[in-house]
Order: sequence, then C-alpha cells, then structure tokens
Amino acid sequence: MKKFLFLLTLTTCSILAAQTDSRIYDIINNVSAERIKTDVTKLVGFGTRHTLSDTVSKTRGIGAARRWIKSEFETISSDCDNCLEVFYQKNLVKKGENNRITKDVWVNNVVAIQKGTKYPNRYIIMSGDIDSRVSDANNFESDSPGANDNASGMAGTIEASRVLSKYKFENSIIYVGLSGEEQGLFGGKGLAAYAKEKGWEIIGIFNNDMIGNIKGVDGIISNTDFRIFSEPTPPTETEQQRTLRRFYGGEVDGISRQLARYVHANVKTYMPEMNPMLIYRLDRFGRGGHHRPFNDAGFAGIRIMEAHENYTQQHQDIRTENGIEYGDVLKHVNFEYAAKLTAVNAINLASIAWAPPAPKKVAIGGIVEASAKLEWNKIVGAKGYKIYWRDTTSPTWDHSRYVENTTSFTLEGVVIDNFFFGVAAVGENGNESVVVFPNEIIKN
Ligand SMILES: [Zn+2]
Repeated sequence: MKKFLFLLTLTTCSILAAQTDSRIYDIINNVSAERIKTDVTKLVGFGTRHTLSDTVSKTRGIGAARRWIKSEFETISSDCDNCLEVFYQKNLVKKGENNRITKDVWVNNVVAIQKGTKYPNRYIIMSGDIDSRVSDANNFESDSPGANDNASGMAGTIEASRVLSKYKFENSIIYVGLSGEEQGLFGGKGLAAYAKEKGWEIIGIFNNDMIGNIKGVDGIISNTDFRIFSEPTPPTETEQQRTLRRFYGGEVDGISRQLARYVHANVKTYMPEMNPMLIYRLDRFGRGGHHRPFNDAGFAGIRIMEAHENYTQQHQDIRTENGIEYGDVLKHVNFEYAAKLTAVNAINLASIAWAPPAPKKVAIGGIVEASAKLEWNKIVGAKGYKIYWRDTTSPTWDHSRYVENTTSFTLEGVVIDNFFFGVAAVGENGNESVVVFPNEIIKN
C-alpha cells in the first residue's frame, strides 16, 4: 500500500511538471534591467526622436536614433549566427495627411525577424516606439527625451531580442521599433499593411507603450501592477458574424481578447508575483496606441503597459511650474519594473513561438443536452488539445480538460448555456496556442 501511494505521488508530480517549461524561468532570469537602462539612456541621448526631426545628424534626431536601433539589432544578430533578419520597413507619409504631418516624411520602422524553424510564415510580434514628443505634438526641435514614452518599450523590445535570440523557435518572432506613433500611428499602419501584402500570418502583436513608470499621478506606487488592453471583437467582422454572436455569444471573446487572456494566464503561471490587469477596452479612454492599426487590419493585438501613469511626465516640455517638474526624463523610469514587463513579453513570445498553431475551426454543439460537444481541426505537431471553459461572467479560462489523439470531445455534465468554451493546441513541451472561441455550430 505504501509503495502504491509513493508511485501515485510520483505520477502526480510528473503531470504537474509537464505543465511548465523550465526554459521560461531562464528567460525571465536573463532579462537585464541594467541593459535596459543603458539603452533607454542611449535613446534619450538623441535629444529628440520626433518623427519630423533631423535625419542627417549622427547624434541628434530620429535618423540617428533609428540607425542606432538597427545597428543594435545587427550586433545581436551577429552574436547568434545571424539569426535576425534586420531591415527598415519604410513608409512615405505626405504633408497634410493630418494636422500633425507638416511636411513629407519617411516613417521608417526598424524590423528584426527571428525566423521560425517549422512555421516561418507565422509571426508573433513585440513592438516599442522610436519616436517622442513634447507639449506641442508638432514641435520637432525642442528636447524630447521620451524616456518612458516610449524609450522604455523600445529598450524592452531590444532586450527581449537579446534574450530570445539564444533559442530556436518553431514560429517566427518579430521585434520592431515602430515610428510615427505620436503623429498618428503611421508606423503600425505601415507594418500592418506590409504584413498583409507579404501574406504573413500574424498570430498577434504585443504593443509596449510606457513600461517604466511605477508612481502614478494618483499617488499609487506599484512595481507589480500592469495593464493588458484588448478590444472585445475585431472591427473587421462581418454583419453575419455580428448577428450570430447575438445568439451564440462571443461579445467579449474576440482574437485580441484571447491573446490578452493568454498573456494573463502565462504571467500567473510563471511570474506569480506580478499583478496583470485585464482591461476590457481597446486602449485608454479616448487615447491610442500602435496595436490599433493591427486590429484595424484584422490582426490580434494588445497593449501592455504600466498600471499607474503620470501625466506630468508625458508629452511635456521640460520645465518646472508651481514646484512641479514636468517632462519625460530618465530619472522617472524604473528599470527593474521595465525589465519585469520585458520578461512578461519575452515569456509570452517564447510560449507562443514554441506552441503549435491554434485550430482554425472550432465547432460547438449541445442544445438541450446535459453536455457540451466540441470539434476542431487536427493540428499536425500538436501533442494534444486543451478544452477550456468558464462561467459567462468570468474574465479568465478557469476550467480545462486535456485530451490526446482526438479532434472532438464531449464534456459530460457541462451545460452549454451556462459557460463559454474554447480550444487550444498543446505542443510536445506543454506550450499552448492561444485559445480559439468556437466559430462553427454542430447541428444535431
Ligand atoms: Zn505618447
């Protein structure tokens, strides 16, 4: 009996161990706050990175900044046997496109692609922004350090590429510095269009915009809270999809929301000391970010950022007024916190890039039955599948059932009316795809 108990314990342990991938902990440990500090300092040193600023100077302006970012990616690539494909993705934006484009300008994104070994045309993206601004959005001459907005996101993206370039992934990872953000999200728009034109299968984008401030204008200080913004459903859906949703559900289950839940769950597993906040909206109230143009193009995309913003340190001329120091300067960036949010990105890039593709088709049935049935297409390379469900009021996938060697399963005793459901593919090493909400109905 004793022996039997011992064996039972062993089996339980191995099942638990199979749910985590120890490489993920190494990735967290390898992210360096010190290197992020060096890079944010370097970016601030270009004086201004305004989209309309100098492109010729070797030391000041957007040109010098993007050339440095490109050379940094190239150095990282030479350290990994040229594992990164580095290039400018260029977009000409014409004067008058909006009132923040006061002259013709090349909005150049710096792209670094780590090609996947098995699914090279499937891409998961991490982005930061190159450009910065002061009080007047069109002032391209004054000093505009943009230390937090958004040298922090840019430095985090570079650091993630340093850490992840030491590994091989099945899916491709893109690390990108987007430009033209403050002038109207032009860099993101350009890259999303480029992805469409190239036929890239975009799994999703993690837009990092301000990941270094821990002291909020509300007085709250936290180095563990952070926000994940996601829109509920894609703006590209059809009238028919909207109509079906009314009868079958899915109001809060679009592709960007699933990506947000993925990040949330993964952080809870691997970085339990952090407090990820799922925010059920596209972005902050009335404000924008570079994931939006990807959403506009029908791609999943979320914004990852600090939880407690400080508006006296965003989009401000550097000055002191009534004893308040205004300006997005270096001293307000908490590099340890920026490193944590960089790790949040890195582990999710890795998990997704190591996971098999998600099923394209997930069908569900079970009207007037005491069970719910799910069917999905077979994924070559998947070890198994995880069926998830949750209460209709829950933000997270709280229940799951793992299955192997099948592409359909009936959850006995689970009444379809009372839950939402989804299916993910699981890889050999336990890494999972993003959950897919049912997109077909099984008719009885
Ligand atoms: Zn900004």
